[in-house]
Amino acid sequence: MRVAVFSTKPYDRRFLDAARGEHELVYFEPRLSAATASLAADAQAVCAFVNDALDAPCLEALRQSGIRLVAMRCAGYNNVDLAAAQRLGIAVARVPAYSPHAVAEHAVALILTLNRKTHRAFNRVREGNFALEGLLGFDLHGKTVGVVGTGKIGECVLAILKGFGCRLLAHDPEPSSAAEALGAEYVSKAELLAQSDIITLHCPLTPETHHFIDREAIAAAKPGVMLVNTSRGAVIDTRAAIAGLKDGRIGHLALDVYEDEGGLFFLDHSGDVIRDDVFARLLTFPNVLITGHQAFFTREALTAIAETTIGNITAFAETGRPLHPVDA
Ligand code: NAD
Repeated sequence: MRVAVFSTKPYDRRFLDAARGEHELVYFEPRLSAATASLAADAQAVCAFVNDALDAPCLEALRQSGIRLVAMRCAGYNNVDLAAAQRLGIAVARVPAYSPHAVAEHAVALILTLNRKTHRAFNRVREGNFALEGLLGFDLHGKTVGVVGTGKIGECVLAILKGFGCRLLAHDPEPSSAAEALGAEYVSKAELLAQSDIITLHCPLTPETHHFIDREAIAAAKPGVMLVNTSRGAVIDTRAAIAGLKDGRIGHLALDVYEDEGGLFFLDHSGDVIRDDVFARLLTFPNVLITGHQAFFTREALTAIAETTIGNITAFAETGRPLHPVDA
């Protein structure tokens, strides 16, 4: 099939080219939206990523160009209007699992960095400053960690944190016996908030999880809680988090995702003025650590993403249905 691949970087091309088989992949750097959908003319499928905007106008434009498949090269699909896709007869596929270890390990890296302040220590030592003031951390051993969402990634996080000797709490409408076998105790949202020293988010972004961490949740959390978000930005109400950081209710905040990351992440803005005042405010806190949606970014994950994406396209070409469809 001829596939228009949007939001591509050199690393996407490298891994997709290695997996592409007979398919013809046409790469575009811009994000996919109604404004750029016309680039997909002549293709039968599009391949899209986390910050592409596959809303109804975009899907309608794609359908007019003859697109029959949207192959997401990510797990989440909150940026696709599934009802519109179904109405237009466009199949949607995703990569349900590529390396849950990649994301889980990054979440734990954020916890360790923010706690032991290795990012600050690195800079100090390079400048000949060996003072320890401001670098005080806490033992992870014995701390209570609340994991929200115990699917593939949440389960890996539980397995890692079990090794640190943490007490594990979990919250998920669909409890898993694997998580319980790792020692996780399922509790209500209120109990998880009240008891956790660290809360790490691994649920998808849905209407139910939108602003799961809001002003009320922050007020109900343990004072000084560490919040870690590697799921989707809008699971945290960022303005409420800023208020929580200012009044000390939140002791540490680590983000790999941000509500309005669309115009910022995956691009080099080092020479630009950041116009997003909410994001700019986050950058001013010494106890906030932000990475630019890189939790998935390992060789193993990119290989698996490319192979599963091509598998979805091949299955669709041969049978009319991708291997991993997302239905409305
Ligand atoms: P998964 O589908 O295996 O697990 C998600 C879990 O969340 C499920 O067990 C589900 O029951 C649970 N859940 C759903 N609604 C919930 C709610 N209201 N409260 C608590 N739990 C709820 O997904 P996964 O592979 O573990 O990925 C989780 C999320 O991580 C993805 O949806 C995606 O948004 C995010 N993600 C981020 C990156 C990154 O690079 N930062 C990479 C991959 C995935």
